[in-house]
Amino acid sequence: QGRLLLQVRVAQVTPDLLLVLAEDLTQARRVEAIRRDFVVNVSHELKTPIGALSLLAETVEDAADDPPAVRRFAGRMQAEATRLSALVHEIIELSRLQVAGALEDVAPVSVDAVVAEALDRARTGADAKQVRLSAGGDTGVVVFGDHALLVTAVRNLLDNAVAYSPDGTSVGVGVKRRGHLVELAVVDEGIGIAAADQERVFERFYRVDPARSRDTGGTGLGLSIVKHVAADHGGDVSVWSQPGRGSTFTLRLPVADQGDDPADAPAADV
Ligand code: ADP
Repeated sequence: QGRLLLQVRVAQVTPDLLLVLAEDLTQARRVEAIRRDFVVNVSHELKTPIGALSLLAETVEDAADDPPAVRRFAGRMQAEATRLSALVHEIIELSRLQVAGALEDVAPVSVDAVVAEALDRARTGADAKQVRLSAGGDTGVVVFGDHALLVTAVRNLLDNAVAYSPDGTSVGVGVKRRGHLVELAVVDEGIGIAAADQERVFERFYRVDPARSRDTGGTGLGLSIVKHVAADHGGDVSVWSQPGRGSTFTLRLPVADQGDDPADAPAADV
C-alpha cells in the first residue's frame, strides 16, 4: 500500500509542477537578494546621521564654555535627529511596501481629495521657498486604493519638485483622465535630471547629487516609495525632464468606475 501511494505521488510531479516549483525558488531567491541589499543599504545610510550626531555631541562637550557655540551645535544635532527620524519612517514605509500585496485599506479614493491633501502637506515647504503651488485638470476621478499611501506618493513628488527648484518658481499638479487610466503629473521648473539619471532616480537611496539631497533633508527613498505605491495600485510612475528647464513626474493609475475589483490590481514585488 505504501508503495502504491509513493507511485501516485511520483506520478503527480508533472513538468508543469516542476516549472512552478522552480519559478517559486527563483522568486524566493530574488526576494532574498532584494532583502539582503536593502539591509546593507539601510545600515550604510543610518551610519551617516548617527556618525554626525556622535561627532556633534563630542563637539558640544568641548564647547561647554561657549554658550553660542553650544546652541549652534544643539541646533545641528536637532536637524540630524529630524533627518534620522524621517529616514527611519521612510525605511519602515518602504519595507512594508516591498511585501507584495501590502495594500491594506483598499477603497474607492477621490483623486481630488488626494491632490488637495498632498498640496496641503507640501505647502509649508513651498512657502519657505516662495514656490507657488497649483492644481488643475479633470475632477471627479475615482481610483481604488489606499488613500493615505496615494497622498504620500503625490506629496513625495511635490516635496521633490519644491526641493529641486529655485526659489520663486511654480509647481503644478495636473490631473488628466485617459480612458481607463488617470494621470497625475507633477510639473516643476527646477534643476531637471540628466537623461542618464532618469531611470536610476527610482532606485532606493539613489541621488543625483548626494550633497544637495542631504541639504534638502532628502532620504533617497521618496521616489522608490512612489514607485511601489504606483505598482501596488496597478499603475506606474515615469519622468520626463530637461536639465536646467524642469521635470515632470507622472503617476498613472487605473480608474475605478468600471466595476473594477481592487483584488485584480497586480501587486509589486520589487
Ligand atoms: P531624495 O530624498 O534624495 O529627494 P528621492 O528618491 O525622492 O530622494 O529622489 C532621488 C533623486 O532624484 C534626488 O536625490 C534628486 O537627485 C532627483 N530628483 C527627484 N525629484 C527631482 C526633481 N523634481 N527635480 C530634479 N531632481 C529630482
